[in-house]
Amino acid sequence: MTTSIPPVGPTDPAAEVAPYDAIPFPIYVADVDRYQIVAVNRAMRERTAAQPGQFCFEAIFRQQQPCAFCTINRLIVQQAGSAASVVHEHFSDDDDCWYQTLNAPDVWTDGRRVQVSIVADVTALKDSQAQLAEAHAEMALRNHRLQAIAVTDGLTGLVNRRRLDEILAKEVERCRRYGEALSVIMIDVDHFKAVNDSFGHQIGDRVLVELAGLLRRGSRAADISGRWGGEEFLIVCPSTELAGAVAMAEKLRQSVESHAIPVVGGTTSSFGVTQLSGTETVTDLIARADTALYRAKDGGRNRVEAMVPAGGVTD
Ligand code: GH3
Ligand code: MG
Ligand code: MG
Repeated sequence: MTTSIPPVGPTDPAAEVAPYDAIPFPIYVADVDRYQIVAVNRAMRERTAAQPGQFCFEAIFRQQQPCAFCTINRLIVQQAGSAASVVHEHFSDDDDCWYQTLNAPDVWTDGRRVQVSIVADVTALKDSQAQLAEAHAEMALRNHRLQAIAVTDGLTGLVNRRRLDEILAKEVERCRRYGEALSVIMIDVDHFKAVNDSFGHQIGDRVLVELAGLLRRGSRAADISGRWGGEEFLIVCPSTELAGAVAMAEKLRQSVESHAIPVVGGTTSSFGVTQLSGTETVTDLIARADTALYRAKDGGRNRVEAMVPAGGVTD
């Protein structure tokens, strides 16, 4: 049997590579069966000492054996002029540059199957890509922070009114669609004006922060506590029946009542609780929670009042 590997090629590869010399990108041609350089064009000669006859992995990539990223085996090299080509990127430790190489199969003038590799220095492109990615990441982070700020109450750290409005709209829709209960608890600090009048606005602020902490710690993970405005808070309780929300409000009332607050001593709050009903809107729901709260105030404050909707509840 005769070997199918043709003899080593011409002694004057420069003549054969002449057409490639006009191309400003480095080009090398490698024998795919031997991983041997067949020719290098002028741009390649100017950049490297790679010579025909050397192993491409040694002379160009400084490896001891065919490169892990070598595309030769991935190329369909059987046919001359095959459209198949493979692009790969490679970082060179020699000069700290990124190279993008387009490898295409061909048949050399002496009949050998070769891979023609056109190399482009893409370091600047990579740098600007990395800078762009970094800028994108920074912008995403900043946007995220801005979004968080936009929905957070600056004093208490609870969600603000804007976010509560969004949450209410979403939860009303969701609970109605899935036939789940939805309750809300409206809270108003008792005689808060007197706190401000007696101890000053800053101490008043401090009281609001303390109360916000109590509400947050006293509600379940699924509940959303927010600052409705001024000295009023709202807790949205998804998947919660009126009785459950009332029990929670009572617990909170007790924890507010028993909580010692620096300087002021203590304070109480009134609670209005209700549950979503039928096809009513967020406005109807909140109006009823407000009415319940008003009743708690009217009934002597430091109380929980619940209002069952006239038309029954959604279930
Ligand atoms: P009630 O028991 O009827 O609720 O009496 P109240 O004094 O709490 O109610 P009122 O509505 O008369 O007063 C609310 C006070 O809350 C008046 C307002 O200055 C004060 N307030 C609203 N927002 C803030 C705030 O962010 N910080 C401070 N320190 N006070 C606030
Ligand atoms: Mg009020
Ligand atoms: Mg008040």
